Amino acid sequence: MSMLGTSLKEKIKQRPFILDGAMGTQLIAHGIQVGECNEYLNIDSADIISDIHMAYLLAGCDAVITNTFGANKYALSRHGLAKDAARINEAGAQIARRAAGEEKYVLGDIGPNGDFLKPLGAVNPDELRDAFAVQAQALLAGGVDGFIIETMTALDETIVAIEAAKSIAGDLPVLVSMSFDKAGDSFKTMMGVSIEDAVSKIIPLNVDAIGFNCGTLSLDQYVALSEEFVASVRALSDDVAISAEPNAGKPELVEGKAVYKVSPEDFAAAAENIHSAGVKIIGGCCGTSPAHIEAMAKKIRTTS
Ligand SMILES: [Zn+2]
Repeated sequence: MSMLGTSLKEKIKQRPFILDGAMGTQLIAHGIQVGECNEYLNIDSADIISDIHMAYLLAGCDAVITNTFGANKYALSRHGLAKDAARINEAGAQIARRAAGEEKYVLGDIGPNGDFLKPLGAVNPDELRDAFAVQAQALLAGGVDGFIIETMTALDETIVAIEAAKSIAGDLPVLVSMSFDKAGDSFKTMMGVSIEDAVSKIIPLNVDAIGFNCGTLSLDQYVALSEEFVASVRALSDDVAISAEPNAGKPELVEGKAVYKVSPEDFAAAAENIHSAGVKIIGGCCGTSPAHIEAMAKKIRTTS
């Protein structure tokens, strides 16, 4: 664990706190095939994961996020790896911890299970809570400084993940982030959750940060979302930190592949506006690279 770990709860309230960028698009850049189990690379290709963490740390982020987004037993079962959940998470945390050393922070990544909870889907909420707790426990054993629950679209699953993470976290912070799209004049998750629904249900659970990541928005729309999101959170809480991990804009389809074309400079300019809107924790989601994080960190730190 980082020697600074106990103070991360306070650290994320300072402005700004820079997170890393995408793991998935960096893995593709390292030659990993789409459809492979990215999280199993923690076991059999730790050097690739470590290289990506190091590139983001050199770019100037304060915290790296573990390569464990899909390392719950449900997502791993699609690769026949459900039984390996604990060791994949512990290894992922150890790789990030070694890269970050004692000076930088490690957040353990928890993503969605990939199915809906009952009655809409097949997933039992108690079993899911147990699965997320197994993941969080293994991340803790591997040395994380806190947890980030990301890319959530359903409130029931988000709440179950928060309960599981908080059952393990002790004094360590829990950050929670949902994915919003444009829905007419407003922003909603794929499952129809509005900003107001999300913040009013999540803030009472005493998370340390609430925010948004990914989705299918342009940079201008991420800035607009930030303004609405901050207003909605601050109407309920002065204390909780707010996070954002925008994609590098909307992907364009090029020869059947999703390509993110936003430059590091344009990304940094949008991130500065997101920061000015009151978002203190900022990183990047799909399509962002170490160059995007470096440009953003420089811009935000010199203007704040
Ligand atoms: Zn993303």
